[in-house]
Amino acid sequence: MPDRHALLSASSSKQWLHCPPSARLQEQFPNESSVYAAEGTFAHEVCEYKVRKYLKERVKHPQSEEYYTEEIDQITDVYAEFVISIIEEMKRNGCEPLVMVEERVDYTHIAPSGFGTADMLIVGKDENGNGVLHIADFKTGQGVFVDADHNSQMMLYALGGLAAYGYIYDIKIVRMSIIQPRLDNISTFECTREELENWGESIRKIAILAYEGKGEQRAGDWCRFCRAKPVCKACKDEALSLCREEFLDLDEGAFNEGAFSDESMQSDGIRASPDDNIENCESCENGTVPVFKQPGLVPLTELAQILPTLNRISSWIESVFAFVSSEAINNGVTIPGYKVVEGRSKRMFTDTKAVVDTAVANGYTDLYKQQLISLTEFEKMMGKKKFKELLGVYVTKPQGKLTLVPEDDPREAVDLTATPETPDREFAAIPDEGE
Ligand code: SF4
Repeated sequence: MPDRHALLSASSSKQWLHCPPSARLQEQFPNESSVYAAEGTFAHEVCEYKVRKYLKERVKHPQSEEYYTEEIDQITDVYAEFVISIIEEMKRNGCEPLVMVEERVDYTHIAPSGFGTADMLIVGKDENGNGVLHIADFKTGQGVFVDADHNSQMMLYALGGLAAYGYIYDIKIVRMSIIQPRLDNISTFECTREELENWGESIRKIAILAYEGKGEQRAGDWCRFCRAKPVCKACKDEALSLCREEFLDLDEGAFNEGAFSDESMQSDGIRASPDDNIENCESCENGTVPVFKQPGLVPLTELAQILPTLNRISSWIESVFAFVSSEAINNGVTIPGYKVVEGRSKRMFTDTKAVVDTAVANGYTDLYKQQLISLTEFEKMMGKKKFKELLGVYVTKPQGKLTLVPEDDPREAVDLTATPETPDREFAAIPDEGE
């Protein structure tokens, strides 16, 4: 969940640790809440409710007609069950753990004005009697797999947790878990208290640079959620330099004035095209179409090398279009060479009841479709046990869409040699990297 009001928030720490000026550069852009964020906030409230109920606190179930679904119920169950299992295990280890739900943690001793809210903070003991701090974070997203391993957001929360509760049970071990049920992801990273504190020391200077808006602006997979991305100079330079120097491998001066004159082409050993259309092409004449001295194809290995950068650039291009469109549509800014038009729309009824009444009054009766309730609705209606007993045999989980992802993605690789050949197999586009 995004932290409100903290300049050096834990949730944006991947950005400011890699690109310190990003924290200040984003200040001028509003932190707009999306539908996903609103759904995420509600899901967190349900998680909180479930854990507090287990802790026997007096709580009211959060209500939302818009966001409360069976799927939300299921994914929050996964989180609550995980957290409860940690608490129960600590109890079995002979201690009464300290459990804090939605706990504000302060790590200003590492990053100026740094604070955030940890979904769950538990202090207790492990099976060897060592003091343990366990932080858990619930993620509703399914676009990006979030790994707990050296996750800076979790490590900052843990540093805040240590600062506040480090004296209890003489904490020696720190565990940080990400629970991301929509991607079947529960990952835990463990380190010693000393390792965590050393890491905190190692980032202190970077945090100060970030707070002061200094340091190098560096584009990378951390740009994904940066609000400054559409107007970021580093992103623009990276995209253009790749297009000019690496991907297109343009000949020197191809975009320069006169690059397409007969003289310059002949002196470069290029024959002027006999095609009148090309000769008269306005884009060619003003130098906006590149010309290559040595035609060729790009080998797959070379494309593979630039995939990570292409992912980022594609995400940057999308953000530029979204930003410029929003400026034009929402703020009335004139974009030279562009105009705002209406998209296609579909016909719809204005008053469904009146439609039904009129149709019935005129003798039409077959107005509704009947549909089988969903698998999760069946499960809810029957309960998990009965559902399994009666209908489990009819349940299958089809193979997910195949996706090419970077090698360090924690998901297990599919053994394609063991899968039947299906040339038309559906595949998904390579997802963006990042948190
Ligand atoms: S988008 Fe620009 S400012 Fe933001 S993190 Fe990336 S490089 Fe830094």
